[in-house]
Amino acid sequence: MKDIQIKKLIDTERKRQKKVINLVASENYVSRDVLEALGSELTDKYGEGYPGRRYYRGTSVVDEVERLAQNRALELFELDKEAWSVNVQPLSGSPANFAVYAALVPQGEKIMGMELSHGGHLTHGQKVSITGKFWNSALYTVSKENERIDYDSLREFALKEKPKIIVAGFTAYAHIIDFKKFREIADAAGALLMVDMSHFAGLVAGKVYPSPFSTQGGLALADVVTTTTHKTLRGPRSAIIFSKRDERGLDKKIDKIIIPGLQGGPHFNTIAAVAVALKEVGTPAFRKYAAQVVKNAKALSDELARLGWRIVEGGTETHLLRVDTWMNGKGIGGREAADKLEAAGIIVNENTIPFDTRKPMDPSGIRLGSAPETTRGKKEQDFIKIAQTIDKVLRKTR
Ligand SMILES: *Cc1c(COP(=O)(O)O)cnc(C)c1O
Repeated sequence: MKDIQIKKLIDTERKRQKKVINLVASENYVSRDVLEALGSELTDKYGEGYPGRRYYRGTSVVDEVERLAQNRALELFELDKEAWSVNVQPLSGSPANFAVYAALVPQGEKIMGMELSHGGHLTHGQKVSITGKFWNSALYTVSKENERIDYDSLREFALKEKPKIIVAGFTAYAHIIDFKKFREIADAAGALLMVDMSHFAGLVAGKVYPSPFSTQGGLALADVVTTTTHKTLRGPRSAIIFSKRDERGLDKKIDKIIIPGLQGGPHFNTIAAVAVALKEVGTPAFRKYAAQVVKNAKALSDELARLGWRIVEGGTETHLLRVDTWMNGKGIGGREAADKLEAAGIIVNENTIPFDTRKPMDPSGIRLGSAPETTRGKKEQDFIKIAQTIDKVLRKTR
């Protein structure tokens, strides 16, 4: 690279990544093949529209790239082409979620998602997000007793608020979601069910987390499924929207919102990199990886609990967990904890815990994830050691 300033920064970032223990729950490390696709000439091509119906010429190759990505996405989650449609053009998770609401929820109608401080995402209708400004929103919380979703109160809340869409799927929730219960609640409230599997898509693909697509009594659990491709799915930064193909025409509405409604030219280099990642995720090696991710998170969680730290929700069934580092004043604030850990070479992010008594900028906890370090080959024993280092670093301040 001739640009010495940028080259130096890339080299420095590569070294930083190598040096640290990365427990950021939303990150991962992609393969050389994914990087190669991202850095390819496909970035030069314009191709507004969809395969076979573009507004540009010279698109025969990118048509194939996009079709390949679509087919691999459907195959990976074992979806029938007749029953499910897929859009691989969203630029990232947030615009993908925005697109779904814009396509399916009239402005001023209601979105129901989980409260941010309890584990939801900004784009699930938080007031500071455009999704909580263009639409009304009603945000559900977890139960005070066990910090998990209480489906009975969720049902009551949904019947009272009558949202047009209910969102299941979170950025900081460590347990398996009961999609069937969500489906029943959505049906009772007359709402669509959207599953945002951004965080756990790789676990679904690796068969260590239930699929939101599976059908029960002929009825699919979710109407729409969105996912980022760069978290447990271990691909480039991008997103995918799956939608049920039926007389409601959800898929057609979503395709139309993506282009011409919201975006212009697809990023074909990224779409190619997504296709590469989806192929990798479909291998037995990835399935082993996904199982190890869950085992590692559990080892980390169990050891931290054994050392006296309070694990939010009482543990984890996924790749992530939240630790209540503050422990009602007996411990250390989340921000300070994350700073101290970074100084010790362990990267985590501070995170609110349900019913947090501290401010979002300096919350009571931290969020930890096992996906990136599992990509680097770490096993349970390594995660137990990481837990002990975390304890040592944070205990000094207790
Ligand atoms: C990460 C995430 C998003 C947003 O993805 P970006 O690519 O950062 O815009 C949306 N929903 C959930 C649940 C997420 O975890």
